[in-house]
Amino acid sequence: MLDKVVIANRGEIALRILRACHALGIRTVAVHSTVDRNLKHVAMADESVCIGPAPSSDSYLNMASLIAAAEVTDAQAIHPGYGFLSENADFAERVEQSGFIFIGPRAETIRLMGDKVEAIRAMKEAGVPCVPGSGGPLGDEAATNIEIARGIGYPVIVKAAGGGGGRGMRVVHTEAHLANAIATTKQEAKAAFGNDMVYMEKFLENPRHVEIQVLADGQGHAIHLGERDCSMQRRHQKVVEEAPAPGITADQRAAIGKVCVDACIRIGYRGAGTFEFLYENGHFYFIEMNTRIQVEHPVTEMITGVDLVREQLMIAAGHPLSLKQSDIHFEGHAIECRINAEDPDTFMPSPGLIQHFHAPGGPGVRVDSHIYEGYRVPPNYDSMIGKLIVHGADREQAICRMRVALSELVVDGIKTNIPLQQRILSDGGFQQGGQNIHYLEKRLAERKEKSLSIV
Ligand code: ADP
Repeated sequence: MLDKVVIANRGEIALRILRACHALGIRTVAVHSTVDRNLKHVAMADESVCIGPAPSSDSYLNMASLIAAAEVTDAQAIHPGYGFLSENADFAERVEQSGFIFIGPRAETIRLMGDKVEAIRAMKEAGVPCVPGSGGPLGDEAATNIEIARGIGYPVIVKAAGGGGGRGMRVVHTEAHLANAIATTKQEAKAAFGNDMVYMEKFLENPRHVEIQVLADGQGHAIHLGERDCSMQRRHQKVVEEAPAPGITADQRAAIGKVCVDACIRIGYRGAGTFEFLYENGHFYFIEMNTRIQVEHPVTEMITGVDLVREQLMIAAGHPLSLKQSDIHFEGHAIECRINAEDPDTFMPSPGLIQHFHAPGGPGVRVDSHIYEGYRVPPNYDSMIGKLIVHGADREQAICRMRVALSELVVDGIKTNIPLQQRILSDGGFQQGGQNIHYLEKRLAERKEKSLSIV
């Protein structure tokens, strides 16, 4: 087993990783920026190292500092969590070149999946269903691009090969706007990602976001842990996630799961990963693969009983997968609400001092959060301060439990999105299930309209 792990992250995921390490008897090194000295996991870790000032570019994104932290503490491995350097192939490479284990896939896999054109090509070859598209980068020849778009059929979406975080995309409804949209997306992609390569896909109008969780050991074994529905989104950011996805049958799950497992084996995938799909009219369309643990991983843990971070650590230690596909059973329904330090109406971040905190409890309730009374949420990072996760015998019970849990949850001193989460959980459309990725924004727009018309 691993002996000592550096947790190259902060907040709730750092605490989550620390817990998994300690449960396996692995010692932990917390790294933190100067404003993050008071993070909960820093106090709980066996050792801690300050890696730089508040801006993440000087701390959590500083590769040299992170590797130095592993060196001075004589650690064996680095867990990158999510965000920050978790999908940075250069970092994975430098970690391994420095003699440490990177807890994640091989650098070349991360690099492959980071280039969306190459990722789609590899997935197509592996038999994964993809969105109909250009199948490669777009050139400068206007006539050729027009022909490609006609072949796909409007509307199309122009996307940056190096894009991420919902940026570098443009929907085109008519031929007249195509050339301009390609040129603008290229310019933006160059500025934002240093790579002006763009490609084209059919724009699906009302898809759901359904993703498949996988585990693979890089030694020829892989399994899937079913799907999650993450269609409740605002500005491409997930707000509520659940598992299983409403309406997906066991046969559909087994079929798409097998496709993902086969792809993992084919590319020699190692670690935890997620295949993200758009789902429309009964069909799955691959959009990208995330080569890391995801924010919403707990809903899968709740319905399968598998500790995904523990599995990441076991795989990194070189153990072959101990779970077979036949060991994975799905029980009940789980929902996760992301709790953000932000105004529930304007979505403006709301950092500051937490004066009072009360965590909900009861059967099937899980709180993954690093906050505590007297903790000050710094303004420098993502506004997510925790996740509330519930499990129930079925979706209806999970919704009931989440509503009670949200009503118990108290975070005073700063604004949070708890009122928004309460509105979502009591919304008829959400309760019905299976809404598409535009649903939440539509409901938010309607609400804004109504409040304006009252004034
Ligand atoms: P990123 O890496 O920036 O998150 P993705 O390829 O995962 O980029 O796409 C982000 C989001 O953009 C998707 O969740 C979906 O809402 C929308 N999107 C991407 N491709 C399409 C498409 N072909 N049709 C419709 N929506 C799309």
